[in-house]
Amino acid sequence: MTTTDTSDLLDYDEVVERFDPVLGLEVHVELHTNTKMFCGCPTTFGAEPNTQVCPTCLGLPGSLPVVNGKGVESAIRIGLALNCEIAQWCRFARKNYFYPDQPKNFQTSQYDEPIAYNGHLDVVLEDGEVFRVEIERAHMEEDTGKSLHVGGSTGRIHGADYSLLDYNRAGVPLIEIVTKPVVGAGARAPEIAKAYVGALRDLLRALDVSDVRMDQGSLRCDANVSLMPKGASVFGTRTETKNVNSLRSVERAVRYEMRRHAAILVEGGEIVQETRHFDEATGTTSAGRRKETAEDYRYFPEPDLVPVAPSREWVEELRTTLPELPWERRKRVQQEWNLSDLELRDLVSAGALDLIASTVDAGAPADEARSWWVSYLAQQANSRGVELDALPITPAQLARVIALISEGALTNKLARQVVDGVLAGEGEPDEVVAARGLKVVSDDSALIAAVDEALAAQPDIAEKIRGGKVQAAGAVVGAVMKATKGQADAKRVRELILERCQ
Ligand code: ADP
Ligand code: MG
Ligand code: ZN
Repeated sequence: MTTTDTSDLLDYDEVVERFDPVLGLEVHVELHTNTKMFCGCPTTFGAEPNTQVCPTCLGLPGSLPVVNGKGVESAIRIGLALNCEIAQWCRFARKNYFYPDQPKNFQTSQYDEPIAYNGHLDVVLEDGEVFRVEIERAHMEEDTGKSLHVGGSTGRIHGADYSLLDYNRAGVPLIEIVTKPVVGAGARAPEIAKAYVGALRDLLRALDVSDVRMDQGSLRCDANVSLMPKGASVFGTRTETKNVNSLRSVERAVRYEMRRHAAILVEGGEIVQETRHFDEATGTTSAGRRKETAEDYRYFPEPDLVPVAPSREWVEELRTTLPELPWERRKRVQQEWNLSDLELRDLVSAGALDLIASTVDAGAPADEARSWWVSYLAQQANSRGVELDALPITPAQLARVIALISEGALTNKLARQVVDGVLAGEGEPDEVVAARGLKVVSDDSALIAAVDEALAAQPDIAEKIRGGKVQAAGAVVGAVMKATKGQADAKRVRELILERCQ
């Protein structure tokens, strides 16, 4: 791992003493509709390259697009959840540019008539403070294909020997959510940027409109940053950092850009408006392309698609059928589980709240669900270096393990082994129990045989117990547990020992 070269950066404390940052966050979310936005091609992730394409998404002459109704519905639901107004009437627009992963040479998007606009999202920061981020717009568009640059060391186009193109993703529905300029964040700008993307991800997950996997690109964030001298009101020139594909990277990228801008500005230099590329390994950004202006894209209304005019009845119906949203859920579980503000915040920042709630929904008692996610599973996530929700165990699977414990079929120790098996990809909890032979020995006759054997092996201890020294039973319990490989219920073993020694 390379370390960050900080010689060109200003110290962060000095940055926030001298400048006020302005942020602008653009988040692209890939909807998990079954089919693409303007054709019937499937959208399954990871399919063989160029197997999910048709004349429309390849932009062949004579093909005509048709809007995916589910895509529009998802866009409206997202808009409503973000407290936006929903357009009475809006159109798609062509955003013209030439790039090999965009076979039509234009992207079907929305321009001055987005489906949703003027909303906000309240973001809870780590210390519990709430920061309101204003939403400019949420509009519908389509994804591009993917380029794979082969040869060269970086995987980027420069230095590559050749490039491969996969159009499976071309035409997958995207919603772009753009904030208004975020002012007043001050020193907390990097934290606010991260918390906003996290809150948006939780919201989209609750709406069940997307897989919201930043690592797979179904949620992508571009972070715009500018600085103005402290107390000024005219925004500085912004840069737009792309390719920020984890929450942690959002925070790092914003902080890095603030420090880089500041170093240039204090030297009397000028910021170039450009896109920049974030490098995960070094935590630095590098220059991309000079920023196009809207005119460069020669936007014009899409003539092949009818306008979208959602009826007010439909919009209101969608509003009343929104699921429980994250802040509503937080309020409810805080009451139901009797959590202090601090406990609630800890669960939220550990990313455990939704997982616990889903485990409870799958039938587990709240305190047990909570204890598994915040202790054993949190340790597992930590040692793998992943977020809790990236662990390969579902709330339903955990609920099943918890049910097996309460039925007496598993001890806590065995249950951890079952969870290990699920995490190792050995299948459902019951399959792991069967395959690893992890059942509590609850059959008394098998236990009595083991108890009698242990008593016979330690006759002097058996004698003591018979003489009334019940505390001597501990050694025999240990021997039975050892003989049954820990699969016996220790309490029952103890009872049986005392019975056999009467
Ligand atoms: P583009 O097409 O250049 O990506 P958008 O309007 O889609 O432009 O997004 C720009 C984002 O940057 C928005 O979130 C906007 O609020 C924000 N923004 C605009 N001006 C500034 C600025 N000077 N500094 C920081 N952010 C800005
Ligand atoms: Mg944009
Ligand atoms: Zn298609």
